[in-house]
Amino acid sequence: MQRGLVAEVHLAALRDNLRSLKAHIGQRPLIAVVKADAYGHGMTEVAWALKEEGVECLAVAFTSEAVALREAGLRGKVLVLFDDQDVPAILHYGLSPVLHSLKAARALSVQAQRRGTEVAVHVKVDTGMGRMGLDVQEAAEAVLQIASLPGLRLQGLLSHFSDVSPKDLGYAKTQLRSFLALRAALAERGLRPLCHISSSASVALLPEAHLDAVRVGLALYGAMPFQDEQPIALKPVMKVRSHVLALRRLKKGQHIGYGRTFTTQRDSLIAVLAFGYADGYLGSLSNTAQVRINGREAPVVGRVCMDLTMADVTDVPNLREGDEVVLLGPQGPHCWQLARAAGTSPYEILTSLGGRARRVYVA
Ligand SMILES: *Cc1c(COP(=O)(O)O)cnc(C)c1O
Repeated sequence: MQRGLVAEVHLAALRDNLRSLKAHIGQRPLIAVVKADAYGHGMTEVAWALKEEGVECLAVAFTSEAVALREAGLRGKVLVLFDDQDVPAILHYGLSPVLHSLKAARALSVQAQRRGTEVAVHVKVDTGMGRMGLDVQEAAEAVLQIASLPGLRLQGLLSHFSDVSPKDLGYAKTQLRSFLALRAALAERGLRPLCHISSSASVALLPEAHLDAVRVGLALYGAMPFQDEQPIALKPVMKVRSHVLALRRLKKGQHIGYGRTFTTQRDSLIAVLAFGYADGYLGSLSNTAQVRINGREAPVVGRVCMDLTMADVTDVPNLREGDEVVLLGPQGPHCWQLARAAGTSPYEILTSLGGRARRVYVA
Protein backbone atom coordinates (compact mmCIF):
# COMPACT_ATOMS: atom_id res chain seq x y z
CA MET A 1 0.00 0.00 0.00
CA GLN A 2 1.14 3.57 -0.76
CA ARG A 3 2.10 5.62 2.24
CA GLY A 4 1.08 9.16 2.84
CA LEU A 5 -0.75 11.76 0.86
CA VAL A 6 -1.77 12.50 -2.68
CA ALA A 7 -2.15 16.16 -3.65
CA GLU A 8 -4.41 16.74 -6.65
CA VAL A 9 -3.50 20.10 -8.14
CA HIS A 10 -6.41 21.51 -10.14
CA LEU A 11 -4.86 23.79 -12.74
CA ALA A 12 -8.25 24.99 -13.98
CA ALA A 13 -8.90 26.48 -10.53
CA LEU A 14 -5.49 28.15 -10.62
CA ARG A 15 -6.35 29.70 -13.99
CA ASP A 16 -9.74 30.85 -12.71
CA ASN A 17 -8.08 32.49 -9.69
CA LEU A 18 -5.63 34.25 -11.98
CA ARG A 19 -8.49 35.59 -14.10
CA SER A 20 -10.40 36.82 -11.03
CA LEU A 21 -7.30 38.59 -9.77
CA LYS A 22 -6.59 40.10 -13.18
CA ALA A 23 -10.13 41.42 -13.38
CA HIS A 24 -9.57 43.01 -9.98
CA ILE A 25 -6.24 44.71 -10.73
CA GLY A 26 -6.96 45.88 -14.26
CA GLN A 27 -4.24 46.28 -16.89
CA ARG A 28 -1.19 46.41 -14.62
CA PRO A 29 1.16 43.42 -14.66
CA LEU A 30 0.78 40.59 -12.17
CA ILE A 31 3.96 39.11 -10.73
CA ALA A 32 3.10 35.52 -9.82
CA VAL A 33 4.94 34.30 -6.73
CA VAL A 34 5.92 30.63 -7.09
CA LYS A 35 8.46 30.37 -4.26
CA ALA A 36 8.49 27.38 -1.90
CA ASP A 37 7.53 25.03 -4.73
CA ALA A 38 4.56 27.25 -5.56
CA TYR A 39 3.31 27.09 -1.95
CA GLY A 40 3.41 23.30 -2.16
CA HIS A 41 1.63 23.06 -5.53
CA GLY A 42 4.74 22.26 -7.63
CA MET A 43 6.74 25.16 -9.03
CA THR A 44 7.38 24.23 -12.64
CA GLU A 45 3.88 22.89 -13.38
CA VAL A 46 2.27 25.96 -11.82
CA ALA A 47 4.69 28.27 -13.62
CA TRP A 48 3.87 26.69 -16.98
CA ALA A 49 0.14 26.96 -16.39
CA LEU A 50 0.46 30.63 -15.42
CA LYS A 51 2.74 31.38 -18.34
CA GLU A 52 0.20 29.89 -20.73
CA GLU A 53 -2.32 32.32 -19.27
CA GLY A 54 -0.02 35.21 -20.08
CA VAL A 55 1.43 36.04 -16.66
CA GLU A 56 4.05 38.76 -17.18
CA CYS A 57 6.56 37.79 -14.53
CA LEU A 58 7.34 35.00 -12.05
CA ALA A 59 8.92 35.52 -8.64
CA VAL A 60 10.92 33.10 -6.51
CA ALA A 61 12.88 33.43 -3.28
CA PHE A 62 16.29 32.07 -4.30
CA THR A 63 18.35 31.81 -7.47
CA SER A 64 18.32 28.00 -7.26
CA GLU A 65 14.54 28.13 -7.79
CA ALA A 66 14.93 30.51 -10.73
CA VAL A 67 17.53 28.20 -12.25
CA ALA A 68 15.09 25.29 -11.93
CA LEU A 69 12.50 27.34 -13.84
CA ARG A 70 14.99 28.07 -16.60
CA GLU A 71 16.01 24.42 -16.76
CA ALA A 72 12.35 23.48 -17.12
CA GLY A 73 12.32 25.64 -20.25
CA LEU A 74 10.62 28.75 -18.89
CA ARG A 75 11.80 31.95 -20.51
CA GLY A 76 10.67 35.44 -19.67
CA LYS A 77 11.06 37.49 -16.60
CA VAL A 78 11.98 35.83 -13.30
CA LEU A 79 12.33 38.03 -10.26
CA VAL A 80 14.54 36.66 -7.44
CA LEU A 81 13.15 38.13 -4.23
CA PHE A 82 15.75 37.45 -1.54
CA ASP A 83 19.00 36.34 -3.08
CA ASP A 84 21.17 39.03 -4.71
CA GLN A 85 24.57 37.43 -4.10
CA ASP A 86 24.70 34.65 -6.67
CA VAL A 87 26.03 36.85 -9.46
CA PRO A 88 27.14 34.06 -11.83
CA ALA A 89 23.68 32.46 -11.84
CA ILE A 90 21.95 35.84 -12.24
CA LEU A 91 24.05 36.62 -15.31
CA HIS A 92 24.12 33.16 -16.83
CA TYR A 93 20.37 32.59 -16.58
CA GLY A 94 19.23 36.15 -17.26
CA LEU A 95 17.46 36.58 -13.91
CA SER A 96 16.15 39.83 -12.43
CA PRO A 97 17.40 40.13 -8.87
CA VAL A 98 15.85 42.21 -6.14
CA LEU A 99 18.82 44.14 -4.72
CA HIS A 100 18.95 44.84 -1.00
CA SER A 101 22.10 46.93 -0.76
CA LEU A 102 24.41 49.20 -2.69
CA LYS A 103 27.17 46.67 -2.09
CA ALA A 104 25.27 43.91 -3.91
CA ALA A 105 24.48 46.36 -6.73
CA ARG A 106 28.14 47.27 -7.18
CA ALA A 107 29.25 43.64 -7.22
CA LEU A 108 26.65 42.83 -9.88
CA SER A 109 27.55 45.92 -11.91
CA VAL A 110 31.23 44.92 -12.05
CA GLN A 111 30.46 41.42 -13.30
CA ALA A 112 27.78 42.56 -15.75
CA GLN A 113 30.25 44.99 -17.34
CA ARG A 114 32.89 42.32 -17.51
CA ARG A 115 30.46 40.20 -19.47
CA GLY A 116 29.29 43.10 -21.57
CA THR A 117 25.64 42.66 -20.59
CA GLU A 118 22.98 44.65 -18.82
CA VAL A 119 20.89 43.27 -15.96
CA ALA A 120 17.39 44.49 -15.14
CA VAL A 121 17.23 44.95 -11.37
CA HIS A 122 14.62 45.84 -8.78
CA VAL A 123 15.55 47.56 -5.53
CA LYS A 124 13.88 46.69 -2.24
CA VAL A 125 13.16 49.27 0.40
CA ASP A 126 12.07 48.59 3.95
CA THR A 127 8.99 50.64 4.83
CA GLY A 128 8.25 48.88 8.11
CA MET A 129 8.56 45.13 7.69
CA GLY A 130 11.97 45.16 9.38
CA ARG A 131 13.28 42.38 7.21
CA MET A 132 15.24 43.22 4.07
CA GLY A 133 16.00 46.25 1.94
CA LEU A 134 17.27 49.81 2.16
CA ASP A 135 15.71 51.99 4.85
CA VAL A 136 13.06 53.95 2.97
CA GLN A 137 13.96 57.22 4.71
CA GLU A 138 17.52 57.12 3.43
CA ALA A 139 17.05 55.19 0.21
CA ALA A 140 16.78 57.94 -2.43
CA GLU A 141 20.51 58.60 -2.87
CA ALA A 142 21.37 54.89 -2.91
CA VAL A 143 18.65 54.16 -5.47
CA LEU A 144 19.97 56.97 -7.69
CA GLN A 145 23.46 55.55 -7.39
CA ILE A 146 22.29 52.06 -8.26
CA ALA A 147 20.42 53.45 -11.27
CA SER A 148 23.62 55.08 -12.51
CA LEU A 149 25.79 51.96 -12.23
CA PRO A 150 26.92 50.64 -15.60
CA GLY A 151 25.67 47.19 -16.49
CA LEU A 152 22.49 47.64 -14.43
CA ARG A 153 19.10 48.88 -15.53
CA LEU A 154 16.88 49.94 -12.67
CA GLN A 155 13.54 48.45 -13.62
CA GLY A 156 11.61 48.25 -10.37
CA LEU A 157 11.30 49.57 -6.84
CA LEU A 158 9.49 47.48 -4.27
CA SER A 159 8.54 47.16 -0.66
CA HIS A 160 6.48 44.68 1.36
CA PHE A 161 3.58 45.14 3.79
CA SER A 162 3.83 43.52 7.20
CA ASP A 163 0.29 43.87 8.53
CA VAL A 164 -2.78 44.04 6.32
CA SER A 165 -6.09 42.95 7.78
CA PRO A 166 -9.71 43.89 7.20
CA LYS A 167 -9.81 45.22 10.76
CA ASP A 168 -6.83 47.51 10.57
CA LEU A 169 -5.20 49.01 7.50
CA GLY A 170 -3.51 51.83 9.42
CA TYR A 171 0.02 50.47 9.44
CA ALA A 172 -0.18 49.45 5.79
CA LYS A 173 -1.25 52.96 4.87
CA THR A 174 1.73 54.37 6.76
CA GLN A 175 4.03 52.03 4.86
CA LEU A 176 2.40 53.01 1.59
CA ARG A 177 2.83 56.74 2.34
CA SER A 178 6.55 56.42 2.90
CA PHE A 179 6.90 54.31 -0.25
CA LEU A 180 5.01 56.93 -2.27
CA ALA A 181 7.18 59.70 -0.82
CA LEU A 182 10.27 57.89 -2.08
CA ARG A 183 8.64 57.35 -5.44
CA ALA A 184 7.91 61.08 -5.71
CA ALA A 185 11.44 62.04 -4.67
CA LEU A 186 12.88 59.75 -7.34
CA ALA A 187 10.49 61.06 -9.98
CA GLU A 188 11.71 64.58 -9.24
CA ARG A 189 15.18 63.36 -10.12
CA GLY A 190 13.91 61.83 -13.34
CA LEU A 191 13.77 58.22 -12.15
CA ARG A 192 10.52 56.32 -12.72
CA PRO A 193 10.92 52.64 -11.87
CA LEU A 194 8.00 50.24 -11.81
CA CYS A 195 6.74 50.50 -8.23
CA HIS A 196 5.20 47.49 -6.49
CA ILE A 197 4.30 46.92 -2.86
CA SER A 198 1.07 44.92 -2.87
CA SER A 199 0.59 41.17 -2.29
CA SER A 200 -2.54 39.04 -1.80
CA ALA A 201 -4.06 40.76 1.24
CA SER A 202 -3.52 44.30 0.03
CA VAL A 203 -4.58 43.44 -3.51
CA ALA A 204 -7.96 42.61 -2.01
CA LEU A 205 -8.17 45.30 0.66
CA LEU A 206 -6.12 48.32 -0.41
CA PRO A 207 -6.68 49.26 -4.06
CA GLU A 208 -4.66 52.48 -3.73
CA ALA A 209 -1.59 50.27 -3.22
CA HIS A 210 -1.91 48.51 -6.59
CA LEU A 211 0.52 51.05 -8.14
CA ASP A 212 2.39 49.80 -11.23
CA ALA A 213 2.33 46.03 -10.56
CA VAL A 214 1.25 43.57 -7.86
CA ARG A 215 2.96 40.45 -6.53
CA VAL A 216 0.52 37.67 -5.77
CA GLY A 217 1.12 34.30 -4.15
CA LEU A 218 -1.47 32.86 -1.78
CA ALA A 219 -4.53 34.20 -3.62
CA LEU A 220 -3.50 32.34 -6.79
CA TYR A 221 -3.69 29.13 -4.77
CA GLY A 222 -7.19 29.94 -3.64
CA ALA A 223 -6.97 31.50 -0.19
CA MET A 224 -6.65 34.93 1.34
CA PRO A 225 -4.29 35.72 4.22
CA PHE A 226 -7.30 36.82 6.28
CA GLN A 227 -10.48 34.96 7.21
CA ASP A 228 -14.19 35.47 6.71
CA GLU A 229 -14.30 38.20 4.06
CA GLN A 230 -14.01 37.13 0.42
CA PRO A 231 -13.56 40.33 -1.61
CA ILE A 232 -12.37 38.28 -4.62
CA ALA A 233 -13.91 34.93 -5.57
CA LEU A 234 -11.20 32.27 -5.32
CA LYS A 235 -11.19 28.50 -5.63
CA PRO A 236 -8.97 26.10 -3.70
CA VAL A 237 -6.43 24.60 -6.10
CA MET A 238 -5.17 21.66 -4.09
CA LYS A 239 -7.09 18.66 -2.85
CA VAL A 240 -5.12 16.45 -0.46
CA ARG A 241 -6.30 12.90 0.07
CA SER A 242 -5.29 9.62 1.62
CA HIS A 243 -7.15 6.50 2.67
CA VAL A 244 -8.43 4.51 5.62
CA LEU A 245 -5.76 2.00 6.56
CA ALA A 246 -7.74 0.17 9.24
CA LEU A 247 -11.04 0.36 11.11
CA ARG A 248 -11.17 -0.37 14.84
CA ARG A 249 -14.05 -0.75 17.28
CA LEU A 250 -13.22 0.72 20.68
CA LYS A 251 -15.35 0.55 23.80
CA LYS A 252 -16.44 3.60 25.75
CA GLY A 253 -13.59 4.79 28.02
CA GLN A 254 -10.69 3.50 25.92
CA HIS A 255 -7.70 5.75 25.21
CA ILE A 256 -6.33 6.68 21.81
CA GLY A 257 -2.74 7.38 20.85
CA TYR A 258 0.43 8.63 22.51
CA GLY A 259 -0.07 10.38 25.82
CA ARG A 260 -3.72 9.20 25.99
CA THR A 261 -4.95 12.64 24.97
CA PHE A 262 -8.32 11.29 23.84
CA THR A 263 -10.70 8.96 25.63
CA THR A 264 -13.80 7.62 23.91
CA GLN A 265 -17.08 8.93 25.34
CA ARG A 266 -19.09 6.13 23.71
CA ASP A 267 -18.52 2.84 21.93
CA SER A 268 -16.72 4.13 18.86
CA LEU A 269 -15.60 3.26 15.39
CA ILE A 270 -12.10 4.62 14.85
CA ALA A 271 -10.41 4.92 11.46
CA VAL A 272 -6.64 4.66 11.32
CA LEU A 273 -5.50 6.91 8.45
CA ALA A 274 -2.38 6.37 6.37
CA PHE A 275 -0.57 9.65 7.05
CA GLY A 276 1.01 11.55 9.91
CA TYR A 277 3.23 14.46 10.75
CA ALA A 278 6.01 13.04 8.57
CA ASP A 279 3.64 13.87 5.69
CA GLY A 280 3.25 17.47 6.83
CA TYR A 281 0.02 16.90 8.76
CA LEU A 282 1.02 19.12 11.67
CA GLY A 283 1.08 17.71 15.20
CA SER A 284 -0.94 20.74 16.31
CA LEU A 285 -3.90 19.29 14.37
CA SER A 286 -4.17 16.60 17.07
CA ASN A 287 -7.68 16.57 18.57
CA THR A 288 -8.55 19.80 16.73
CA ALA A 289 -8.88 19.13 12.99
CA GLN A 290 -11.53 17.35 10.96
CA VAL A 291 -11.16 15.16 7.92
CA ARG A 292 -13.88 14.34 5.41
CA ILE A 293 -14.77 10.72 4.76
CA ASN A 294 -17.69 9.60 2.58
CA GLY A 295 -19.02 13.13 2.62
CA ARG A 296 -19.02 13.41 6.43
CA GLU A 297 -16.78 15.38 8.76
CA ALA A 298 -14.84 13.18 11.16
CA PRO A 299 -12.79 14.64 14.03
CA VAL A 300 -9.14 13.76 14.44
CA VAL A 301 -8.81 12.02 17.80
CA GLY A 302 -5.63 11.52 19.80
CA ARG A 303 -2.23 12.81 18.81
CA VAL A 304 -1.18 12.77 15.18
CA CYS A 305 1.60 10.14 14.93
CA MET A 306 4.56 10.08 12.56
CA ASP A 307 2.85 7.87 9.93
CA LEU A 308 -0.69 7.51 11.23
CA THR A 309 -3.62 9.64 12.31
CA MET A 310 -6.85 8.48 13.94
CA ALA A 311 -10.34 9.84 13.31
CA ASP A 312 -13.66 9.13 15.01
CA VAL A 313 -15.90 7.74 12.26
CA THR A 314 -18.68 6.38 14.44
CA ASP A 315 -21.17 8.58 12.58
CA VAL A 316 -19.90 7.85 9.07
CA PRO A 317 -22.08 5.23 7.37
CA ASN A 318 -20.89 2.41 5.11
CA LEU A 319 -17.21 2.94 5.69
CA ARG A 320 -14.65 0.40 4.52
CA GLU A 321 -10.91 0.03 4.81
CA GLY A 322 -9.28 1.60 1.75
CA ASP A 323 -11.91 4.34 1.44
CA GLU A 324 -10.74 7.81 0.52
CA VAL A 325 -10.25 10.47 3.15
CA VAL A 326 -9.96 14.14 2.21
CA LEU A 327 -7.77 16.32 4.43
CA LEU A 328 -7.90 19.53 2.46
CA GLY A 329 -9.55 20.99 -0.60
CA PRO A 330 -12.76 21.57 -2.50
CA GLN A 331 -14.45 18.40 -1.18
CA GLY A 332 -12.90 18.69 2.27
CA PRO A 333 -11.76 21.17 4.89
CA HIS A 334 -10.70 24.63 3.70
CA CYS A 335 -7.09 25.51 4.46
CA TRP A 336 -8.31 28.17 6.87
CA GLN A 337 -10.14 25.48 8.89
CA LEU A 338 -6.86 23.62 9.29
CA ALA A 339 -4.93 26.84 9.93
CA ARG A 340 -7.34 27.77 12.72
CA ALA A 341 -7.25 24.26 14.18
CA ALA A 342 -3.45 24.27 14.20
CA GLY A 343 -3.08 27.89 15.28
CA THR A 344 -1.19 28.79 12.14
CA SER A 345 -1.68 30.31 8.68
CA PRO A 346 -2.90 28.90 5.35
CA TYR A 347 0.64 29.46 4.03
CA GLU A 348 2.03 26.91 6.48
CA ILE A 349 -0.78 24.42 5.86
CA LEU A 350 -0.32 24.50 2.08
CA THR A 351 3.47 24.31 2.11
CA SER A 352 3.64 21.56 4.69
CA LEU A 353 0.96 19.32 3.13
CA GLY A 354 1.72 20.03 -0.53
CA GLY A 355 5.45 19.96 0.02
CA ARG A 356 5.53 16.29 0.94
CA ALA A 357 2.57 14.80 -0.94
CA ARG A 358 2.78 12.87 -4.17
CA ARG A 359 1.38 15.38 -6.62
CA VAL A 360 -0.91 14.66 -9.54
CA TYR A 361 -2.06 17.38 -11.94
CA VAL A 362 -5.60 17.72 -13.15
CA ALA A 363 -6.10 19.96 -16.18
C1 LIG B 1 5.81 35.80 -0.54
C2 LIG B 1 5.88 37.20 -0.98
C3 LIG B 1 4.83 37.75 -1.73
C4 LIG B 1 3.52 37.04 -1.96
O1 LIG B 1 2.72 37.18 -0.82
P1 LIG B 1 1.24 36.55 -0.75
O2 LIG B 1 0.72 37.00 0.57
O3 LIG B 1 1.42 35.07 -0.82
O4 LIG B 1 0.50 37.09 -1.90
C5 LIG B 1 5.03 39.02 -2.25
N1 LIG B 1 6.16 39.70 -2.01
C6 LIG B 1 7.17 39.22 -1.26
C7 LIG B 1 8.39 40.05 -1.04
C8 LIG B 1 7.05 37.95 -0.71
O5 LIG B 1 8.03 37.48 0.05
